[in-house]
Amino acid sequence: MKRVYSAADPVLVGYLKSVLEGHRIACFVKNEFLRGAAGELPVNECWPELWVLEDREEWLAGELIADALAPGTGGDWTCAECGEICEGAFGLCWRCGALRTGRE
Ligand SMILES: [Zn+2]
Repeated sequence: MKRVYSAADPVLVGYLKSVLEGHRIACFVKNEFLRGAAGELPVNECWPELWVLEDREEWLAGELIADALAPGTGGDWTCAECGEICEGAFGLCWRCGALRTGRE
């Protein structure tokens, strides 16, 4: 298991969990209900954390999270490697797997 994201806002963490689940990545939120303990623990140890079950999905999850948090990613984009038109929701080319550069 790998932790892929942590934030003070449980709503945001929950949203990102739904993004990953939408891409069939098995994940769960840790510390979701620990907020009542704040004050006894260092603050950032109480933050909700998003974890993926499969280590090999950590990188993809990170890409999806970065994409979900980036502003203005709604439009389609053209892969710099193979020229494929990809949907704006994806941070990777579905055809060749190249990373979206943001310079399309
Ligand atoms: Zn491509």
